[in-house]
Amino acid sequence: MTEELFRADGYLKSCAAKVVEARPDGIVLDRTVFYYESGGQPGDSGRLVRADGTTVGITDTRRDKATGAILHVPAAGAPALAPGDAVSAELDWERRHRHMRMHTCLHLLCAVVPGQVTGGQVAADKGRLDFNVATGALDKAHIESELNRLIREDHKATPRWISDEELGASPDLVRTMSVKPPTGAGKVRLLDIAGVDLQPCGGTHVARTGEIGPVVVAKIENKGKMNRRVVVQFA
Ligand SMILES: [Zn+2]
Repeated sequence: MTEELFRADGYLKSCAAKVVEARPDGIVLDRTVFYYESGGQPGDSGRLVRADGTTVGITDTRRDKATGAILHVPAAGAPALAPGDAVSAELDWERRHRHMRMHTCLHLLCAVVPGQVTGGQVAADKGRLDFNVATGALDKAHIESELNRLIREDHKATPRWISDEELGASPDLVRTMSVKPPTGAGKVRLLDIAGVDLQPCGGTHVARTGEIGPVVVAKIENKGKMNRRVVVQFA
């Protein structure tokens, strides 16, 4: 199993690691700062650099559902690595930081829009959430000003773990969440934006909402009965 360093600290830009397995579909490391595609947040890109300077570009990071292995997908024509190779795993930090900013912004969107979230996607320049609400229920200008207010207020965003027992003993906590936390794994990771939003989430986020920067609501799309897609972009 790969140690997932990004869970404890989303601001790690690189780490020393060892190649465990070099598969045709991806390189497995003993530890990594690369977030794998999940929960609507894209997998990270970057590079693996050996001490002799050999550099393997990484275009994407995915999780093999069958084995749970985290696969660092090499660029076409990249030099081969072998098990045991020591590498420096380095993120394309600017792209990842934009994912963190937009992902955190979608938590705020969740707090602003009254409605059940049915889907979502983060990208480096924009993000979206789908809400189970009726036509005309959403006001674009209001959502935009509320988002920017919460960003300017610079709320602290803190990931924390909670045990299944603790969760079961705190029904009020679950009631404040718009997404029901998964149970059975023993513990659940929550993102707590103080006084604004509390959700089960395994993604990477910025530490304070001010770091998101100003945003605009680009559009609200009608995706069918009781389905409104709110698209947010960096201003
Ligand atoms: Zn999140």
